[in-house]
Amino acid sequence: MIDWKDKREFWIMGARIADPSAERMRVGSVCVQRGAITEIVWQKSVDTDLPVLEAERFVLAPGFVDVHAHLREPGYEEKETIETGTAAAAAGGYTAVLCMANTNPAIDDPSVVEYLARRASLVGNCRLYIAGALTKGLGGEIVNEYGLLKHAGVSALSDDGRWVTNSQTMRTALEYAGQHGLPVISHCEDSFLAQSALMNEGYHSTRLGLRGEPAAAEEIAVSRDIMLAALTGAHLHVAHVSTAGSVDLIRRAKKRGVRVTAEATPHHLTLDDSLLESYDTNLKVQPPLRGRKDIDALRAGLLDGTIDCVATDHAPHTEIDKDVEFDEAPPGMIGLETAFAQLHTRLVKTGVVDLLDLVRFLTVRPAEALELPGGCIKKEAPADLVLIDPEEEWTFDRALIRSRSKNTPLVGAAFTGRVQGIFLEGKWRSAIMG
Ligand SMILES: [Zn+2]
Repeated sequence: MIDWKDKREFWIMGARIADPSAERMRVGSVCVQRGAITEIVWQKSVDTDLPVLEAERFVLAPGFVDVHAHLREPGYEEKETIETGTAAAAAGGYTAVLCMANTNPAIDDPSVVEYLARRASLVGNCRLYIAGALTKGLGGEIVNEYGLLKHAGVSALSDDGRWVTNSQTMRTALEYAGQHGLPVISHCEDSFLAQSALMNEGYHSTRLGLRGEPAAAEEIAVSRDIMLAALTGAHLHVAHVSTAGSVDLIRRAKKRGVRVTAEATPHHLTLDDSLLESYDTNLKVQPPLRGRKDIDALRAGLLDGTIDCVATDHAPHTEIDKDVEFDEAPPGMIGLETAFAQLHTRLVKTGVVDLLDLVRFLTVRPAEALELPGGCIKKEAPADLVLIDPEEEWTFDRALIRSRSKNTPLVGAAFTGRVQGIFLEGKWRSAIMG
């Protein structure tokens, strides 16, 4: 644990700096003054009168940016709040999160947007970006007043949790969103094909006797939305891509010049549907965990840029919600606090991607995909940074969880690589309790 009393002006010295715009990591030192990066030098140390944080053991990266989190406030504060959700984000190395609109009331009115922005700045754990609902009450029929939502401060529009089944509504939504310069994040899942499905349709669903959801449920939705993005010229962002077929559709759409970006979650990148043998309801997610072939396609898509970024789809549910029969449990798992460690352990340590690539997928690529600030290390930029010990071995203990909900299958998992804390505008927040 780093013992660092908060200071306004200081140097972080000798860290390996993971600057996503660079080809490789280099040892350097960074000066932080009044919340901004004022100097970057490629030396282990510099002469200075300012306080120094010795960071030779660590990697210094831009603070992570999550473009998909459910923070549940207002309406489901028993699952998560802006306070606990952003605390979980900060503990996971995130300096910014985008919260989804499926709250109660939904984020479909400027007053809700203003309330959330105020809550987040009062709490001050990390930056909050807000997705406004695409349709009134997420009903899928009446398109919201995007001009008013944008004016109130939304960064994107989404009915995430549901797909807009009415193609005319989706066309209108994309057209209006395009006029207001807002990306549309689509939860691509044909609700009729996915109805009452509990897991991926395949060998394991047959063996377990659980109703399966075919890959086609997602791919039909991705296809239609790509066609409507092409028709309208609007920016479509495909949430939580989970199948090889979707990766292929997005790759081909990008080649034709359609304005489409996409994300994949840490769980879809690392966990497969054979794990459902345990009937652990924390493994029930939407879209469901898929097979090995899909996981390989997602990883290849991230590496070739088809999938722009990693997003957590952090989806808290209480123990009472999840401690039920498998078919009764709501879908979703929390992910903000384990995203980096899980991906570092399963993708970097196994040689699938290198650490600098992983940092890109968590920083500059999500920021660019959703046109948000941040995700880089440069002079004059806000000092939103994360300090990582890539060698620390640790076990994810339930007692460590800052989220209000504990629904993750990763309790007890052994990780290599640990977020030590973040600097948010230069202000240190330890990720490690004690
Ligand atoms: Zn979703």
